[in-house]
Amino acid sequence: HLAIAGHPSFRESSVGGKVPLGLRRRALRVLVTGGAGFVGSHLVDRLVERGDSVIVVDNFFTGRKGNIAHHLQNPRFEVIRHDVVEPILLEVDQIYHLACPASPVHYKYNPIKTIKTNVVGTLNMLGLAKRIGARFLLTSTSEVYGDPLQHPQVETYWGNVNPIGVRSCYDEGKRTAETLTMDYHRGANLEVRIARIFNTYGPRMCIDDGRVVSNFVAQALRKEPLTVYGDGKQTRSFQYVSDLVEGLMKLMEGDHIGPFNLGNPGEFTMLELAKVVQDTIDPEAHIEFRPNTADDPHKRKPDISRAKELLGWEPKVPLHEGLPLMVTDFRKRIFGDQEESTE
Ligand code: NAD
Ligand code: UDP
Ligand code: UDP
Repeated sequence: HLAIAGHPSFRESSVGGKVPLGLRRRALRVLVTGGAGFVGSHLVDRLVERGDSVIVVDNFFTGRKGNIAHHLQNPRFEVIRHDVVEPILLEVDQIYHLACPASPVHYKYNPIKTIKTNVVGTLNMLGLAKRIGARFLLTSTSEVYGDPLQHPQVETYWGNVNPIGVRSCYDEGKRTAETLTMDYHRGANLEVRIARIFNTYGPRMCIDDGRVVSNFVAQALRKEPLTVYGDGKQTRSFQYVSDLVEGLMKLMEGDHIGPFNLGNPGEFTMLELAKVVQDTIDPEAHIEFRPNTADDPHKRKPDISRAKELLGWEPKVPLHEGLPLMVTDFRKRIFGDQEESTE
């Protein structure tokens, strides 16, 4: 095991709770698959900041080099262009397995590739973890609950998923990834962690990925109408990305396998979300109704009691605080610096 000393942020780290007070936490070698993506790149920032050696494996399907460019000169950072559907040999202590497109537009683009990524890709990362004895964390999703018949969703709920629908490549893919993760835990004694992530937003989201928060924010900034699908009464719970990253790291460092819901219990209809976006960006923004997509879950809200109790985690950033942080980033990326200086 590699030990890197001398990083000043070790002692301030909120993780590594088992290290006796006054002692430095040993720096780890951490693999982040999908680390050039939205969530992955924020996680990488925190791991690098804490002094770990980080390897990103990403095929850049939805990720961007720009998301991790600021680490490229750091000798403790490495990025490998690689598709997790193919095997890979690496030596690390922990694996955060995020590689998988997350937006419905992206994961429906090539559904067979999506399910291969979830099944074969996860199998490969589990095989890797087994060979090197690394701890493995799967980023699963609230989509495993499908169109839920229980509200809010508790981890013990098994879900209501259409196995043959257009979203199945993603939600059944993630369900299988959870199954594989538990089978490697039971069968190969692997140390595993499972997070079920609810809708997350923040800087670095793909601008045109079709997700509701990125759509509304980009539309309001471009003076286009906000597209509300269906009647807009369906609900989602929106979590700011820093809260999620905190939860993922607490889960990885903690003693519990999960699954754990990681999400913000604040629940909004899409019409309410449109109103928050109007209030934040442009009160004059119009709303345009569009037909909804197939199998769209009617409501979704996490019960986070388990994460609160066992991980000591809960989200801190409400929508009206997180949204402006994302708007600043989107404004820069949509208009560039010129527009920024005239604002
Ligand atoms: P993202 O699309 O921004 O990031 C995914 C990353 O994985 C990208 O960098 C992409 O290039 C990479 N990738 C995709 N397929 C790959 C493959 N076969 N091999 C190697 N790399 C591959 O999405 P995100 O929002 O950052 O999501 C990260 C993880 O969190 C995903 O597993 C997603 O399912 C999960 N999740 C996200 C949300 C959310 O709201 N953002 C909600 C639930 C679950
Ligand atoms: N694998 C990998 N890197 C490794 C070890 C395994 O990519 O360091 C892949 C391997 O190619 C296989 C998968 O992980 O496809 C599952 O590996 P495991 O050893 O569990 O199963 P087996 O190879 O015995 O089928
Ligand atoms: N949605 C919407 N307008 C958009 C994009 C999405 O009203 O421009 C709705 C969509 O129908 C769904 C909700 O917003 O009910 C969340 O969709 P998203 O794609 O962001 O995430 P997911 O369906 O995976 O929760």
